[in-house]
Amino acid sequence: MVTPENAVICFAGGKGGTGKTTVAANIAASLAKQSHTVTYLDCDVEEPNGHLFLHPHIERRQRVTVPVPKVDINRCTGCGKCAETCQFQAITVVNKKVLVFPELCHSCGGCRLVCPENAIAEVPQEIGTVEIGHAGNIRFVQGQLDIQQVKTPPTIQAVKQHIPENGIAILDAPPGTSCPVVETLQKVDYLVLVAEPTPFGLHDLQLVVEMARVLHLNFGVVINRAGWGDRNTYDYLQKENIPLLGEIPNDRAIATAYTRGELAADTLPQYRDLFTQIAQTILQKTSSTRELCKN
Ligand code: SF4
Ligand code: SF4
Repeated sequence: MVTPENAVICFAGGKGGTGKTTVAANIAASLAKQSHTVTYLDCDVEEPNGHLFLHPHIERRQRVTVPVPKVDINRCTGCGKCAETCQFQAITVVNKKVLVFPELCHSCGGCRLVCPENAIAEVPQEIGTVEIGHAGNIRFVQGQLDIQQVKTPPTIQAVKQHIPENGIAILDAPPGTSCPVVETLQKVDYLVLVAEPTPFGLHDLQLVVEMARVLHLNFGVVINRAGWGDRNTYDYLQKENIPLLGEIPNDRAIATAYTRGELAADTLPQYRDLFTQIAQTILQKTSSTRELCKN
């Protein structure tokens, strides 16, 4: 049995609704049953829903903050150097008065560095929460962005700080192919793309494959709801030489388990072996990726 002591495996899936989270949660549960040390990290911080299937007990919460500038009006001369430096229009000078727009600030610290009067300090702005706990023998971490906050990448970074040094980390990526997904994919060992065998599913899959290739990631595909749609996705995988890691059937019993907030790997004995097999295939691919990287 392949037992890498540590691996960071990310599950992504283009648009929402492909079953990325349920597949990630099932694989996490399956690996934990095989006595691996598993941490599930929900990086979909705008709408985390891994907890709906894993039912974690949250043991502690940490607020996520980012530094934003605060200007000391007694020191400021209104020279405008800070506004000239800011690429995001997050700080501006009107009639020698400095205005800061924290929601636009990227916390680069540039304005503070260029201020000739040392009039800018950094103060923490709260943007979200990281929750840490356990779901059975799975360590569970999820991020949740505060309402009306848009600083998704720093919240994802705060979740990823909990990736353990040892054990298998399962990252559940946000949907899409934009900045939050790219942030989640930084420093992962292997990427699992979850796709449906439909024309829309194939279109989304092609987008995430493009992204994975730009990021030089090793990846494979799990087909979810196999048995409906068409064969075009399979033809695409073959043509592009992309590994098919496994297929999860389009079975009403699985869908019903999900609507109840249950994992097929836990509650449907007929699927336990399937998830075990997919989990093992993913570990094998992850291990061979590491071997390739070493050489
Ligand atoms: S750079 Fe410093 S002194 Fe100049 S306007 Fe900005 S805060 Fe004021
Ligand atoms: S920290 Fe960076 S992004 Fe924020 S206001 Fe200053 S220069 Fe702009």
